[in-house]
Amino acid sequence: MQHLLKVSENTQLSWCNFSIQNRISFLLQLAKLLLENKEKYAICITTEMHKPISQAIAEVEKCALLCNYYSENAETFLATRNIKTEASESFVTYEPLGVILGVMPWNFPFWQVFRFAVPTLIAGNTVVVKHASNVPKSAKLIQEIFEQAGFPKGCYQDLRISSDEVAKVIGNPIVKAVSLTGSEQAGIAVATEAGKHLKKCVLELGGSNAFIILEDANVEKAVATAVNARMQNAGQSCIAAKRFLVHKNIADEFVAKFKVALKNLKTGNPLDKETQIGSLARVDLAEELEVQVQKSIEMGAKLIAGGNRKDAFYEPTTLTKVTTEMPVFNEETFGPVAAIITFKTIEEAIKLSNQSEFGLGVSIFTQNIDFIKTKISAFNEGAVFINEMVKSDPRLPFGGIKKSGYGRELAEDGIKEFVNVKTVVIN
Ligand code: NAP
Repeated sequence: MQHLLKVSENTQLSWCNFSIQNRISFLLQLAKLLLENKEKYAICITTEMHKPISQAIAEVEKCALLCNYYSENAETFLATRNIKTEASESFVTYEPLGVILGVMPWNFPFWQVFRFAVPTLIAGNTVVVKHASNVPKSAKLIQEIFEQAGFPKGCYQDLRISSDEVAKVIGNPIVKAVSLTGSEQAGIAVATEAGKHLKKCVLELGGSNAFIILEDANVEKAVATAVNARMQNAGQSCIAAKRFLVHKNIADEFVAKFKVALKNLKTGNPLDKETQIGSLARVDLAEELEVQVQKSIEMGAKLIAGGNRKDAFYEPTTLTKVTTEMPVFNEETFGPVAAIITFKTIEEAIKLSNQSEFGLGVSIFTQNIDFIKTKISAFNEGAVFINEMVKSDPRLPFGGIKKSGYGRELAEDGIKEFVNVKTVVIN
């Protein structure tokens, strides 16, 4: 371990002196490799965590998009900023911090790692990554891809360690900061350790996004988006819509159409390009989801579709008559389960939406844009998407508040998380 960290430290000392254009040249090569080999990489992802291959290919393509985005914009984001003061010169520079640790999850085995590593590296840091234990082949492959793209050895290193060893790495003086994407429990463990050593951390944790359909919404469009927002990646996404808040006057129509749309989802072999929904990544995750659904049914929720499990496969499921005390409302459901609750007024919808320990994002469907714009500040979230599902985009900052974590990834905000914002004054 110490040896790997030392390599990372030594590499960083030269890497930070590469010109930004030089660093970016490797990024272009990285994007090229991703696109040329997307099917091969997608097979690795699908084989390890069972997401449908078409979604795995899209994940690899999105990583290439991210590389292209930072290759076009990183230089501008990191440029020295002159600020007018009484001094003869004053400006701000953005300098790398050193070796940064990433602790990453399995649900988007490529995307999560790339969105951490790419901006962090381009800012002149080097990275060491502890990937999730159930995606070791993806973890190894990603390091190989960075090396094939020409990044100097040591820029990107996969640490094959268990979660028990993360604390030791955070405490190591070589490591300057840490970024974790994962569960609340892991977030607490990492933030505690980082705090102990006064090291910066970025936390991208869980979510229980509301998906609100107001009375005037286009229901057809809302249903089509709702299915995708909940069922993509078999529901294993932090930004998936998990709680559906539907105005009571359109609830019957929404539920009927949602049920039909779920029935039409194609299940099957995840390596088949036609498959839209596969099994969860592990049996224990499906079992955990089953318990959340069962408990909610015992508390009065009505099962109107799905509800069956076979090994790691959990049927796309819909529950109505959900109340705020039920696990499907007040816990994160990391699988294909839609919890539906009705409301009468916008105030009630906002209250229900905010009644979550998480604060990653919310989707709202309505035709009255002027009206909903006046309500945006009432939502305690990192993101508000109107007539669209919450999704990440390299051009937009991504992150949450409350128990969804802190800090931002992507866009200009993301590349500035792991830099020293250095103020210079010359008189
Ligand atoms: P997880 O169990 O927290 O694992 C995430 C990573 O943290 C893994 O590498 C894991 O290692 C490590 N880890 C677990 N416990 C740790 C500890 N005590 N100390 C240090 N490291 C620890 O989460 P997951 O099940 O992989 O992912 C699902 C969760 O991630 C969900 O809550 C989801 O919402 C969240 N997520 C959030 C975002 C976001 O951007 N906000 C994106 C994706 C996922 P091992 O695999 O070895 O246990």
